[in-house]
Amino acid sequence: MENSPDTPTCLDEPSSTGAGKYYRALFDAIDQGLCIIELLFDKERRPVDFRFIEVNPAFERQTGLKDVAGRRMRELAELEEEWFQIHGRVAVTREPVRFTRQARALERWFDVYAFPIGDPEANRVAILFEDVTRRRRVEEGLRQGEQQLRLIFESATEYAMVVSDCERNVTRWNSGAERLLGYREEEILGRSGDILFTEEDRASGQPQKEASIATEKGRAVNERWHRRKDGTRFWGSGLMFPLRDGDNAPNGFLKIMRDRTAEREVEENLRQSEERLRLAIDTAELGTWEYNPHERLSFIDERTRELFGVPHDLETTYDVYMRAIHPGDRERVNDLVGRVLNGEGNGHYRDEYRVVRITDGAERWVRAAGRVHFDACGRATHVIGTVLDISDLMNAREVLARRSEELERTVEERTRQLRDIVQQLETFSYSVVHDMRAPLRSVRSFANILEEEYGARLDETARGYLRRLQASVARMDSLITDVLTYSRVNSSEATLAPVNLDQLMHEIVEQYPQFQESRQNVIIQSPLPVVLGNRALLTQCISNLLDNALKFMPADRAPRVLVRAERHGGRTRVWFEDNGIGIPGEYRDRIFGLFQRLHRSDQYPGTGVGLAIVHKAVERMRGTVGLESFPGRGSRFWIELLLPEKRPASATGE
Ligand code: ADP
Repeated sequence: MENSPDTPTCLDEPSSTGAGKYYRALFDAIDQGLCIIELLFDKERRPVDFRFIEVNPAFERQTGLKDVAGRRMRELAELEEEWFQIHGRVAVTREPVRFTRQARALERWFDVYAFPIGDPEANRVAILFEDVTRRRRVEEGLRQGEQQLRLIFESATEYAMVVSDCERNVTRWNSGAERLLGYREEEILGRSGDILFTEEDRASGQPQKEASIATEKGRAVNERWHRRKDGTRFWGSGLMFPLRDGDNAPNGFLKIMRDRTAEREVEENLRQSEERLRLAIDTAELGTWEYNPHERLSFIDERTRELFGVPHDLETTYDVYMRAIHPGDRERVNDLVGRVLNGEGNGHYRDEYRVVRITDGAERWVRAAGRVHFDACGRATHVIGTVLDISDLMNAREVLARRSEELERTVEERTRQLRDIVQQLETFSYSVVHDMRAPLRSVRSFANILEEEYGARLDETARGYLRRLQASVARMDSLITDVLTYSRVNSSEATLAPVNLDQLMHEIVEQYPQFQESRQNVIIQSPLPVVLGNRALLTQCISNLLDNALKFMPADRAPRVLVRAERHGGRTRVWFEDNGIGIPGEYRDRIFGLFQRLHRSDQYPGTGVGLAIVHKAVERMRGTVGLESFPGRGSRFWIELLLPEKRPASATGE
């Protein structure tokens, strides 16, 4: 068989030439796979398969196929149709080809050089090939990585990404940068990226500094105010990285940043409110603490540590905390903490107790307050709180309590002394007033004798004097009577019992001589209730009030008095309503005092003691008095009395 240099002969063919040996050695030694195949065609001369004639030792490593010599390709693996087409073409056209293809069945990529070999009729092709799967994967990875990077670069609209050259002139500009900074890519490309800095930063050389830090350290933090195209500012936060070319020489920068103006504002507000809180805590001299009930551990600040006297080398466990609490308060505090952790008080904790400082045993009073935080299952997760030294307050409280106790004792003592003096005075005045009765009686007797026995001999003037004398004596007498009554009301024993007011009221109106004349003018709105009172005192009150109601009447008006009762709180209020002259507002409080009168006694007779008696008597029955008045139209006096706790079926009074 003839061989030409470009169509080498089959290597297994006997050859006596040195070149044959040489080729054989080469065939065995090369790293690439090399095989010689014979193309098999169908009747229409379509390539359908090929048979391996010869393979070199590297073939197995390059393909993973073993013992292939003499076997057909389709027996070994189902390659893509193109593999047969291409090699068929080489066999037919005698044109060598070079290509890179994947052989899926072998899970490999091959770089292939196929060329015809030997006789055209032999349909033989030599294939020199190399498994390039790894290289392909790396290339593919790189390609995908680059694609992903491009995608990130373009789609990261939240991030401005700016690539610049070593002079910081912009070379790439993503849509995020467009959105954030306001420049379109075509108007910024080629311009200096420094225009994104504020004037102040540019003036102080910040762009250069940032670039040199990025170059030196591999990155530069980019946390500053930036400037948009329209001049507005935003707080940009991100990083700047140096870029290097294939030879690792610097060839520019990549800057990535985000608008963090809003976050910065929130952070700034948070910082400020934290500062205010810290200031408030400092000013209030509050200690702060946090307790974790699961670990039974606390974090405490310096002030709390100082207050409880916890040495720095002591772990702040719950037991240490308990140790610092005064033994007298410990159990109670522990108990309350337990209850609050179990949800009592809605997780609000507040307590005051004594602390005995661990370091020096000094005793302090503290007020602790806290808020318990619970998880979704209602278990306490942690407690955050404050503690305040209230020793001064507690000392002051103690002093105050002592003082007020002393004061109370003094007041009690003084009141007792005063009561004694008043008692003595009352006894004295009672006896004086009482003793005045005897001389007065004798004045009256002698005046009467004078009138009866010498009246006829006296002239008119003398008789006038005598009448005045008698009137004064009568007035003096009623004054003495009233004052003595007042004294009695004030000093007599006043036991309280249920009194049937309805019955008493009727008795007074129907039987008392002073009401006989006008009793039809008094209307009692029955039934009046049974009250808790004193019959004698009540009688005094009722007759005085009725007296006044009938007395303070314009001369031309027929009196009309209504007595009625109503429930008022847990008491009864008894009203005495008249249609008399009324009382001007400014006198309403005064008239219950002793000797307070609004009229001369020749207009309306009286001593000014009646209402004082009412006031005192009601007071002694633990009641109150008052009035409403409509000058010219009438007055409505009321007394408010207790009701018996269990009203008996019928009460007959004392
Ligand atoms: P006295 O009736 O003896 O004058 P009181 O102490 O009973 O004394 O009354 C004090 C004053 O209150 C009376 O002088 C009168 O001015 C006024 N007053 C009391 N009751 C009435 C009333 N029902 N209507 C008008 N004024 C009254």
